[in-house]
Amino acid sequence: MSTMAISVRDLSKKYGDRMAVSHINFDVPLGTVCGFVGPNGSGKTTTMRMLLGLISHTGGSGQVLDASIDEPEKYLSQVGAMIEGPAFYPALTGAENLKVLATLGGFPIERVQTLLDQVGLGDRAKSKYKTYSLGMKQRLGIAAALLPNPKLLMLDEPTNGLDPEGIQEVRALLRSLADTGTTVFVSSHLLSELEIISDYLVMLRKGEVVFAGKIEELLLAQQNVLIVKGQNPGDLEKILGIATSMGHSATIRNSEVHVQADADWAATLNRAAFDAGITLAQLTPQLPNLEETFFEMTGEK
Ligand code: ATP
Repeated sequence: MSTMAISVRDLSKKYGDRMAVSHINFDVPLGTVCGFVGPNGSGKTTTMRMLLGLISHTGGSGQVLDASIDEPEKYLSQVGAMIEGPAFYPALTGAENLKVLATLGGFPIERVQTLLDQVGLGDRAKSKYKTYSLGMKQRLGIAAALLPNPKLLMLDEPTNGLDPEGIQEVRALLRSLADTGTTVFVSSHLLSELEIISDYLVMLRKGEVVFAGKIEELLLAQQNVLIVKGQNPGDLEKILGIATSMGHSATIRNSEVHVQADADWAATLNRAAFDAGITLAQLTPQLPNLEETFFEMTGEK
């Protein structure tokens, strides 16, 4: 038995001439929360669909719970998933909705109340679904995905559209599920929504993996940045030119130049700017920030 819940090698999906997912490689260890992050359209849903056997792959291979994704019937009974937004009957209560799904899926009805308690909906079990907040609806969706008592839970953007409180509730639930042994593979287009609870991260950009590994490794890969501004708006391009001519990569963002350099290089840049006739109005070293690293890796600005 492998220690990996998911392993993919060179996995690809082509739609017509277009690679939606291109030769991706990553592993998700059992018992962890793995955040699957990337901008909209980067291929997260397509990957999840391939892992669930909902669509076929056009290249490479994948294993879920030690079985090939060519034979999803071997593992699907141990996987819970929420890919599209959950679909429930608006006029039925949360408990009634879950009971319908439990009956259809052949799962014990007794699990319904336990699951409602587990997702924090125990006291709203008898309220109609249509009266639920978006966060409650998502949590009911997660309860439905938990009906088979899965080893692996795959959730596509469960925090999308939620307010900060709802995001916090879903995050806490996912963390507690992983702490009791369920592997959680969860996607979001916002790293900030997942970074607190994720042990591992897989970052996608335009169908390709730009980072896969422990979140600590991503922190180590982070570059220190100097935030620089001149007195005149026209100085930005000149500062950018000075920094790049001195071997540092730099970009202009929000009317500031972001230079990849350690704090002790600030004096050198200050002198070079002065020699070029620029008076700096701001020269601030910034501590590494995961979201910035993410944007640099995914090429978003
Ligand atoms: P989102 O969060 O917006 O759903 P995503 O990261 O999940 O983004 P996918 O939905 O997997 O991305 O889409 C990846 C790419 O594949 C996109 O360019 C999308 O337009 C394309 N794509 C997805 N499904 C199909 C399809 N059935 N036919 C053709 N192209 C598709």
